[in-house]
Amino acid sequence: MRYWGFLAAKLAVAGAFMFLARGLVRWFFAKPVVYYGVPGDPFAHDLTYTTAMMVFFLFCFGLISLVVWDQRYRCRTCLRRLRMPVSAGSWPNSFLLGRPRIEYICPYGHGTLRVPEEQITGSAAPDWHPHDDIWKELEALEESRK
Ligand SMILES: [Zn+2]
Repeated sequence: MRYWGFLAAKLAVAGAFMFLARGLVRWFFAKPVVYYGVPGDPFAHDLTYTTAMMVFFLFCFGLISLVVWDQRYRCRTCLRRLRMPVSAGSWPNSFLLGRPRIEYICPYGHGTLRVPEEQITGSAAPDWHPHDDIWKELEALEESRK
């Protein structure tokens, strides 16, 4: 829930930036276009305004892509950026080691994100594996050695 709330908050801030940028574009470039005495929308009639709106659209697309990309590489528990990318898997040994992927881990041990390197059937969703308590895992490892 916290993860999705953080995404919603970032999208709200991005929306505020987009609203501000749209206001700036309209303030700087919009000139009233009058057709037969009726004011109309300058989009697709004024080249400067239309170009500015195209750049605005690219800005909005880039901003939303940045928000989604940033959210994708965050821990689902503590919202910190995932770190330590490690290549894992292998094509020649895909039955033993799995398909090639990059694994990111939370610096506090909450989980691992496995991002497939190949995109054969389109964009594959990253695979999040939450970890149990790291101290319990270490105690279990210590118990297994005895
Ligand atoms: Zn974490």
